[in-house]
Amino acid sequence: MKRAVVGPQLSLDGTAIGERAAAVAEEPCLIIRTCKHILESGVSCRQPAVAGRKYCRAHLELRLRRRRMVRARRRHRGLKLPRLTSLEAVQDAQTRVAVALAFGHIDPETARVLRCGLTQAAAHLRYMARQEGLAKGHDGLGGKVQRREISSIGTMG
Ligand SMILES: [Zn+2]
Repeated sequence: MKRAVVGPQLSLDGTAIGERAAAVAEEPCLIIRTCKHILESGVSCRQPAVAGRKYCRAHLELRLRRRRMVRARRRHRGLKLPRLTSLEAVQDAQTRVAVALAFGHIDPETARVLRCGLTQAAAHLRYMARQEGLAKGHDGLGGKVQRREISSIGTMG
């Protein structure tokens, strides 16, 4: 077996590498793992990481929150509602809620809350249609409104 005999190695500043390593070892060794999260500005967080984890407390909570949101979104994947811009759209949404409930994509409590919201949306749309209709001379839902002549109300004697 050959053994390589190496002389003292010197670094660029002339001190022997062995001496330097000894000097470094004497300094109090304080290694704190920092958070691996990359901020929106592009720099890393640099807060001390929670023991045994890669992220600081704030970013661990952020990651947990995001994971929960992804899970919740996955749970409601079977239900996608249309934009509630008309009574037909609201009716379509009510049907979708019923189907999602029937197939177990949403729980009964979520379906109840959604139905309540859709009922309110329908009432609001009907109100808006009625207001527009009154301005145009009909009730907005197909019926005609009889308008009293303003001139006949104000005249007396
Ligand atoms: Zn952090």
